Amino acid sequence: MNKVEMSQIERIPKVELHVHLEGTLGIDRIRSLAQQAGQYPPKPFEELFQFSSLAEFLATLDWMFSLIRTEEQVREIARDFAVYARTQNLIYVEVTVNPSHWHLSFDTLFLTLQDEFDKACTKGGPDIRILPSIARSDSMQSAMELVQWCIGSQLPRIVGLSIDGDERLGSFNGRFAPAFALALEHGIPGTAHAGESSSASGVTEALSLLGVKRIDHGVRAIERSDLVTRLASQDVTLNICVSSNCSLLYPGIDHHPLKLLMESGVPCTLNTDDPAVMGISLNEELQKVSNYFGFDEAQIIKFQLTAIDAAFCQNSTQLELRERLHAGVSPANLAVLQ
Ligand SMILES: [Zn+2]
Repeated sequence: MNKVEMSQIERIPKVELHVHLEGTLGIDRIRSLAQQAGQYPPKPFEELFQFSSLAEFLATLDWMFSLIRTEEQVREIARDFAVYARTQNLIYVEVTVNPSHWHLSFDTLFLTLQDEFDKACTKGGPDIRILPSIARSDSMQSAMELVQWCIGSQLPRIVGLSIDGDERLGSFNGRFAPAFALALEHGIPGTAHAGESSSASGVTEALSLLGVKRIDHGVRAIERSDLVTRLASQDVTLNICVSSNCSLLYPGIDHHPLKLLMESGVPCTLNTDDPAVMGISLNEELQKVSNYFGFDEAQIIKFQLTAIDAAFCQNSTQLELRERLHAGVSPANLAVLQ
């Protein structure tokens, strides 16, 4: 089997649908924020991203984001992410942003991100859209406030609603169903983290109670064959992050069900989740996963097509993205796009 070279992966125009802005801050940026805030880290900086559970990781995020006090700091984080995305040859990203981590108003956070991502796009960078995210620990009222703010603001870069966080204490999908229903009524589709810290039933609930058409992770769906059949028949896309799953869920990549899900006809995309925390860029993730599972360059291109099909942007934007993908692949792989 020929391994896919990094140069081949770098060349492919890419789309990522499952990446958290909160997981893109490198240690240097965090060190600088801590110095500005006069705060010491809960453990040495070099060990900040070493954790044994999702709960410990989320507690680290809470500390990191307590350091952010100003609009300019949000701008720096947005610019860092846009630069990183460009280095990965990403042409379109939907970035998850969970305001419960940030000690800032919705206005300051989302209007600033909108502005910086507009500037990056104008300069030829990737088209970065925003998925405001509810935390599983949020109240129904704060979830509704977020959705109402999204509806009222009509920010063009807000294209969907997300929910994330630790489901080990419960998924509480019933609590958040009205927020997702309200968002959908106003043309804002939903995606939900499920089937990672929750079991297959978390995925079933997210589909039934939240009405989502995409699932972030969703890998534990493999534990129920009827659910796998449902995902495939209803074209529910799983936004999968193999390295992240191997850090928090599976003992190794040989336990990961990506290929089984694909062989069952479930649409899957490949993503990083938290690239700085995982210490892996999107291109590195694609190379690692492809070489382990034996995916060739054509298959990596197919993952991008699946991501474009599942993207929450307008149909006209999806069409443009397909054209950009078409223009960016080598002639030998054009047949994949037919
Ligand atoms: Zn995630």
